Amino acid sequence: MKVTVDRNICIGNASCIGVAPETFQLDEEGKAVVLNPSGNDDQTILAAAKACPVLAISLEDENTNEKLWP
Ligand code: SF4
Repeated sequence: MKVTVDRNICIGNASCIGVAPETFQLDEEGKAVVLNPSGNDDQTILAAAKACPVLAISLEDENTNEKLWP
């Protein structure tokens, strides 16, 4: 799964990290970055993306490029 964070949208509230701490972390600017796109299982990463209040996280199937979220 392709995992991206739009840093222009991220407000750094760390909801995604609370759900999927092996996948996301906050950088020195207090914005989320992708630590490891397979750090958590896909369902957990999807739950983390859904937990983002500003829809900053996008998920795509890396094989088909199908948009999985949002
Ligand atoms: S939940 Fe969304 S806004 Fe909050 S840190 Fe993660 S990507 Fe940023």
